[in-house]
Amino acid sequence: MNALVQPATAAATTLAPSAPARAKVVAENVNVHYGEKHALKNVSVNIPERSVMAFIGPSGCGKSTFLRCINRMNDTIPSARVTGRIEIDDLDIYDKSLDVVQLRARVGMVFQKPNPFPKSVYENVAYGPRIHGMARSKTDLDDIVISSLKRASLWEEVKDRLSDPGTRLSGGQQQRLCIARAIAVGPEVILMDEPCSALDPNAAARIEELIDELRQNFTIIIVTHSIKQAARVSQRTAFFHLGSLVEEGPTEMIFTTPQDRRTQDYITGRFG
Ligand code: ADP
Ligand code: MG
Repeated sequence: MNALVQPATAAATTLAPSAPARAKVVAENVNVHYGEKHALKNVSVNIPERSVMAFIGPSGCGKSTFLRCINRMNDTIPSARVTGRIEIDDLDIYDKSLDVVQLRARVGMVFQKPNPFPKSVYENVAYGPRIHGMARSKTDLDDIVISSLKRASLWEEVKDRLSDPGTRLSGGQQQRLCIARAIAVGPEVILMDEPCSALDPNAAARIEELIDELRQNFTIIIVTHSIKQAARVSQRTAFFHLGSLVEEGPTEMIFTTPQDRRTQDYITGRFG
């Protein structure tokens, strides 16, 4: 068991332990241009495994752009050009021979607006394992669907309505369904881009609790515009400003003794 793993019941604000954790994701000098626009500038960071890192910063500072670099979602934006290096467990994810479909199974993504497929609850979760050939029988597939729904803290609420359309669930349930869908293909890293922004406070709190549980098994990177949320859910925080990563460190430190004036101004609400 990794020394970083805290019991799920630990308060979300627990200090990150001082022992250095193994880096799951290593980014070196990552730059992104959209046409002429230099949106991300020389970003280098190590993201420790089995923990939550929050990306914070004013709107337009490049948080989503950097997040999309980590599963090569920027490949889908024609004007985007990415340079630099990103490794996941020593695998260069920009290697020409890399299978991007496999990469996106290893690095799942959850978006701001819950986006279940227009299919049943069951099919939403079963879809990925089926196309990746992960189940040998219907029983196998059922097991994956059930365990994914359980791990996404949704099973009790949907076990009697697995054939209802996913879109008929509440917003918070839909977001947990999207998390179950991501979990179902066995990812190691889960990227979340403002996953609570479209949810009411209670639904958002459920997602935060879930994130705190999931970090036992997954490396989670969450973009949030809520510095309170970053303080509650993350062990490390990275502050971005105008396309640069200004500073990164244990969340407690970023929020109490930031090294850079821009970080201090942001967390005390002077801008952003
Ligand atoms: P954040 O997530 O921090 O709000 P983004 O990563 O979305 O910031 O955007 C960073 C910068 O890149 C912004 O100036 C934004 O306008 C620009 N940008 C983002 N996506 C695109 C795109 N698809 N095409 C052109 N410019 C983009
Ligand atoms: Mg964004």
